[in-house]
Amino acid sequence: MERAELYRWLRETDETRLAELWERADAVRRAHVGDAVHLRGLIEISNNCVRRCAYCGLRAPNVKLGRYRMTTEQILGCVRQAAALGYGTVVLQAGEDPLLTTEWVAALVKRIRVETPLAITLSLGEVDEGALRAWKAAGADRYLLRFETSNRALYDRLHPPRAGRVSDRLALLRRLRELGFEVGSGVMVGLPGQTYDDLVSDLELFRALDLDMIGLGPYIPHPETPLCGEAARAGGPEQVPNDERTTYKMIALARLVCPRANIPSTTALATLNRAQGRELGLQRGANVVMPNLTPVELRAQYEIYPGKACVNETAEACSGCLVARITRIGRTVGTGRGDSPNWTARVGPTGPA
Ligand code: SAH
Repeated sequence: MERAELYRWLRETDETRLAELWERADAVRRAHVGDAVHLRGLIEISNNCVRRCAYCGLRAPNVKLGRYRMTTEQILGCVRQAAALGYGTVVLQAGEDPLLTTEWVAALVKRIRVETPLAITLSLGEVDEGALRAWKAAGADRYLLRFETSNRALYDRLHPPRAGRVSDRLALLRRLRELGFEVGSGVMVGLPGQTYDDLVSDLELFRALDLDMIGLGPYIPHPETPLCGEAARAGGPEQVPNDERTTYKMIALARLVCPRANIPSTTALATLNRAQGRELGLQRGANVVMPNLTPVELRAQYEIYPGKACVNETAEACSGCLVARITRIGRTVGTGRGDSPNWTARVGPTGPA
């Protein structure tokens, strides 16, 4: 698909025409990744963060947020729950927390690898190559690092680097690929200052990076962040709205440009539409959901944005609810690790040499 066509779909408002886009995305999803919906158990292992991202509630200057860091035993408890609930993957996510040292994370990954057959995904922000190598050697399979927006000027404004460093997520994504990780990235939809043309470039970058996983969610303003006060029309007439429909368009178009990628129907989307958001994401290109396994007493504190869906659900309730939603729309629950067919095609069924 050319830029002009991507752009036209992003600006399309006619519901009949849009139904065509949803159908195309759903057909491509079925042909390339099938009807199985894979469950990835999300464990938010620390909400400490040294960064100052303008959009995120975990940012270091937010002193109103109570901070936590889970212990290895607490995390392993959640991992065992993931296995018991039949999930094929655990995702360990956190703010950029220097106390999650290379050695500590490597030891944790090794224990999960030894004790369970689960695939291990890490989402721990921008770390150095030594850490990535150590985690891969310990048994980590996948890494999620959204590039957030392909507009470099906007990215620099929203995502200041650590003192004396540069923030180059694209370089990191390429390193992750070379190290043999399954690589995931993505963007927020509707950032103040983000234009339709930026979204087209985001989609083209998904394709160029040949991503195995693509995460897309609406930007949701957090009152304790500087971005919250910014006018929703910061990008002028070309400003992208942070709404449900634009997020579905991005999911559908991501499926069309990267047919074999694993694409989650995200919690941020479910936050905008609690009744139907998950299902509509799955019916418009997505094939993954990420049930939350973080202990309920900590969950509210992982407040990257406010009003997060499912914040008080236990792991069991979350699993039951999602399985019911998946079956109700005629899909099946995935079994096994649910590796990306894209990655499998690249490295072979036994993994990288
Ligand atoms: N520290 C890790 C994990 C961050 S949380 C990292 O930086 O990669 C995971 C994702 O949540 C982020 O990549 C971002 O895209 C999203 N996010 C953060 N704040 C948000 C907000 N206010 N609204 C919607 N999504 C947000």
